[in-house]
Amino acid sequence: SVANIGVVGLAVMGSNLARNLASREGNKVAVFNRTWERTETLINDHPEAGFVAAKDYEEFAASLSKPRTAIIMVQAGRGTDAVIEELTKVFEPGDIIVDGGNANFHDTIRREQSIRETGIHFVGTGISGGEEGALNGPSIMPGGSVESYKTLGPILESIAARADDGEPCVTHVGTDGAGHFVKMVHNGIEYADMQLIAEAYDLIRRGTGKTPAEIADVFDEWNKGDLESYLIEITAQVLRQTDASTGQPLVDVILDAAGAKGTGAWTVQNALDLGIPVSGIAEAVFARSLSSKAEQRAAAVEALPGPDSENWKPSDPDAFIEDVRQALYASKIIAYSQGFDEIIAGAEQYDWDIKKGDIAKIWRAGCIIRARFLGRITEAYQNDADLVALVLAPYFRDAVTGAQGAWRRVVVSAAEAGIPSPAFSSSLAYYDGLRAKRLPAALVQGQRDFFGAHTYKRVDKDGIFHTLWSGDRSEIETEPSWH
Ligand code: NDP
Repeated sequence: SVANIGVVGLAVMGSNLARNLASREGNKVAVFNRTWERTETLINDHPEAGFVAAKDYEEFAASLSKPRTAIIMVQAGRGTDAVIEELTKVFEPGDIIVDGGNANFHDTIRREQSIRETGIHFVGTGISGGEEGALNGPSIMPGGSVESYKTLGPILESIAARADDGEPCVTHVGTDGAGHFVKMVHNGIEYADMQLIAEAYDLIRRGTGKTPAEIADVFDEWNKGDLESYLIEITAQVLRQTDASTGQPLVDVILDAAGAKGTGAWTVQNALDLGIPVSGIAEAVFARSLSSKAEQRAAAVEALPGPDSENWKPSDPDAFIEDVRQALYASKIIAYSQGFDEIIAGAEQYDWDIKKGDIAKIWRAGCIIRARFLGRITEAYQNDADLVALVLAPYFRDAVTGAQGAWRRVVVSAAEAGIPSPAFSSSLAYYDGLRAKRLPAALVQGQRDFFGAHTYKRVDKDGIFHTLWSGDRSEIETEPSWH
């Protein structure tokens, strides 16, 4: 037993994570893959890593010092279950199995529960940053027991991305599925952020006639301010790319149908279950779905007329671009505020002690949504751990209220020009919904009482009431309806 850490699953993510681990002082890495060829390729291509290669699970377990610690990086779902089953046969109580794949947190909760009986620790861990992050430093979101983190923490800290202040982007998120839950919400926020940036690009392009390369310059400029982030930076790079075969901007030859691997949809599904309005994230997921409906879109292009957005031009293009920047920032704040609401609701539902400020901290580097403004989120939760909504923290409140003139102008312009801006406009609707003194929910309650006797409360006295709609329409005090 010579290795202090092992990796199972040596496709792109596992190989890169194994190489990252091997490059850190003090680590000796055991590797195993179901199909030997992958292992062979890795050890031949990277002799410098000094991997201890195992041909089967017994050999893999024997090569690890105790407590044995192994990170699984295989296909999420059945692949993960298969590997866990094999590992639990050769591991002993006190050993640690880490699942670094994109598992559904419900699976992680289930796996942790069933493995716990064996005395082996199971740690579901979110890992963000893609292939490059796995190799050079990802943002890591581990769940699992506090005890397992004592062994695992230092290893993960050694490979995690480092924020500008030198802090490793990893923290013990909470028990069982907490890590994968937070990773899921991270991905949901990522969807919203990407959609908002895409809407900003579309509005600027259609409104000002700037070329993609010119819009790249705009994004580069934005990247020097509050919006500074990895996604803004790579957006500029994508927009500046020219297609080699046609000489056109690459963005103009890429088919406009966005794919998805499902974590955005999970974020929304769980938000629905938890009753949390993550409307910005939901619009981003739905915008991808709509983009992929080729048949409907082809039929609607001719059948559904609208304003001629080709000829729509704002009177002052530079002022419009500045408005879009502010609308983007305000909408982004809303998306994060909603995402953190979901984290808070998940923590309550599943009994996790999640430190919101620490989550923003570990997203500062390594992951796809790394951004300057995450420091502001950490600050907001440091100043008030029980903040009722992120958007109500003084900094964010000022940013959003300061931007609202621009935000409204952009949403109005988009609607008038017939340019879809689902994420911009739903974020604004959320803002107005949240701040409304009275909502038409009162009418909805009246309707529900009419057709289903679902009852209502009154603003002027306690109790539960029902109007006898099909009788004399007088009001009676009643018990709550269970329908
Ligand atoms: P894949 O998701 O393509 O999975 C391939 C690996 O899984 C191979 O090593 C394969 O072994 C192994 N595998 C599949 N089924 C089994 C099984 N029944 N028993 C044993 N091994 C099995 O690999 P990736 O590297 O792309 O991704 C790994 C994980 O990381 C996934 O969960 C993925 O969702 C996640 N991921 C995360 C990203 C991020 O940014 N965080 C980005 C990409 C992926 P074999 O060679 O024998 O077929």
